[in-house]
Parts: sequence; C-alpha cells; structure tokens
Amino acid sequence: MSLGEFDIIARYFARKTERGDVLLGIGDDAAVLDSQPGRKLVVAMDTIVEGVHFPVETDAADIGYRALAVNLSDLAAMGAEPAWMTLSLSLPRANEQWLSGFASGLFELAKDYNVALVGGDTVRGPLVITVQIAGWVENDGWLARSGAKPGDLLFVSGIPGEAAGGLAVVQRRIMGGEAASFLKHRFLRPRPRIELGRQLRNFATAAMDVSDGLLTDLKKLCAASACGAQLNVDALPESLAMRELFEADDCWQYALAGGDDYELLFTLPPERAAALRTLQLQQRVTQIGVITADASVVPLLEGQPFRIKRGGYDHFANPNDVG
Ligand code: ADP
Ligand code: MG
Repeated sequence: MSLGEFDIIARYFARKTERGDVLLGIGDDAAVLDSQPGRKLVVAMDTIVEGVHFPVETDAADIGYRALAVNLSDLAAMGAEPAWMTLSLSLPRANEQWLSGFASGLFELAKDYNVALVGGDTVRGPLVITVQIAGWVENDGWLARSGAKPGDLLFVSGIPGEAAGGLAVVQRRIMGGEAASFLKHRFLRPRPRIELGRQLRNFATAAMDVSDGLLTDLKKLCAASACGAQLNVDALPESLAMRELFEADDCWQYALAGGDDYELLFTLPPERAAALRTLQLQQRVTQIGVITADASVVPLLEGQPFRIKRGGYDHFANPNDVG
C-alpha cells in the first residue's frame, strides 16, 4: 500500500484510550487486557463486505460506524457491557480521505460506549471489515436465545422495518424529503441497544438481536428455545416515515422480512410485564406476540396467516422486486 501499513495504523487507529483495563494496546504483538474476578468475558465478531452488507457508494464514516454497530448489537443481545475491540481491515487501496472518514465513524460510536481499539490487522484486498468485540457481564447474568417458555410474551424494541425501508430508499434513490432521510439514517446508523440489553438482564428469559429480519430471527430464537411463536402482525409498531413512502402491506413485509434492524427481540413471563413497564426503558418496546409450545412460528393478521412475499434481506436487495 502506498501509505504503508505502519503509517495507516499509526495515523488512523493507534489512539490513546481512557480505559484503565488496557494494559498493552496497539503496537505490540498482542494486546494485554485486565480481567476481573466475578465477571464473564463475552466475545463476538462480525464482518461486513462492500456490496453485500452495505451499498458500494456508502460513505466511509457510515461504514466505520456500522462495522462497530453490528458488533455492539450482538453484545446488547447478551446483556453485556462492551469494553474492547480489534479491527481487521482489508482495503483495495490506502486512500487517506477514506481512512480518515472511516476512523471518524468508528471512533464516534466507540466513544459513546467507551470501547477501546486494542489491536487488529491491515491488509490489501477487497473492502472487507471485521470487528471483534469483547465485553463482560456480571457473574451468570448474560442473556441467551434459549430460555423462552410457552406462555412467555414476545417483545421487540424500536420499529423493525425502518432500516430495510432506508436501504430501499438508498437503492431505489427514492426522493421523499424528511421521511426518506430519516429512514436512510436508520439504515446507515443503527443504534445498538446496549442500555436496553443491560436493563433486560433481570427480566428477559431469552433475547437476540434482529439482523436478518424479524421472522427469520424469531425462528432462530424459537429453535434455540425448543418452542414456537405466534406473531401478531397488527401489533407491530407503526412507522410514520414508512407509511409516508410505502403501502401498508409493504410496511409489514419490510418489518417482518427486511434486515438490518439491530433491534432486540426478547421474551418474558406475563407476570414480569408490569415490572418491565415501570422501568425507565432506554428504548420503546412493543409486545408483538406470544411463545407457544408447538414448534411453528406463525405470523397472523386479523387472525389469518400472513403471507411473506419472500424471506430475508435478498427480497429487498433487488430494486425491481417490491413496491
Ligand atoms: P504483527 O505482524 O505482529 O501481527 P502488525 O504489524 O500486523 O503486527 O500490527 C502491529 C500492531 O498494530 C499490532 O498491535 C496490531 O494489533 C495493530 N494493528 C494492525 N492493524 C490494525 C488495525 N486495523 N486497527 C488496529 N490495530 C491494528
Ligand atoms: Mg507480531
């Protein structure tokens, strides 16, 4: 690379951290981190690929933000508090403007959650970014996908579907004033639900983050918990911005099958619902269904099975497909 690997790291990524638990950070062969008794380490990794996880023309700062956001979302789903990350960066070329934008988006979000970048790897190749994130939970206080029980209520945070609507806005170059830019922002800058995940530790029986589409991910939660679910489509939180740009049926399709929400999907027994409402929740949550004993996952609209046109992210990746 023209700029040189060492210069890239020194100029854009080797930053001082306030975290006292980073004993040795960037610059040596490995990082040395202080662990503490009574806590459990929680580790996750997510890779984003240009043209697959974000459109080719995405702004570098948005890519940097997203690379960390998708990882923080995994820690949120575990009820963990983030602490450290490593970054593997594969770049086609060393473009200083791009690097500076990327680093600004990455560190903007890192600062919000006091995450220190403690190491990584930098290579030449197609644009692929991997972040590994580590954080901790107290004792055995983590959330898992596997604890849902028949009769539990099913909740989702935020408004699923807005991010997929935002991607459609980008791909189809929909002009729609404020609603369009709001949805675009929801796609480009997903807010990880770290605080909510922390708050749910003593409430939720199961939790996961929604990244591949609400219905697909609900099936994963149900499989892990050996149960099923009934999802009430009419209970889904409505988005004014979505309603402004899309037909009602498409709004539901995006909410159930669109990806990139990075909201939390969780379950809890009915007797805990009142206590949940007394919490000062950091995020709006909506009850969208119940967990059932039989293994099927059924979306219902006015009591009738609701038909998904096609599942998952691909449905919305094809600009000629919907709407
Ligand atoms: P090594 O060859 O020993 O793996 P490198 O030359 O690849 O070391 O990296 C030197 C230091 O810079 C290491 O501490 C490594 O973790 C860090 N590093 C490399 N790339 C990145 C990156 N993209 N972000 C953060 N730290 C990085
Ligand atoms: Mg080395």
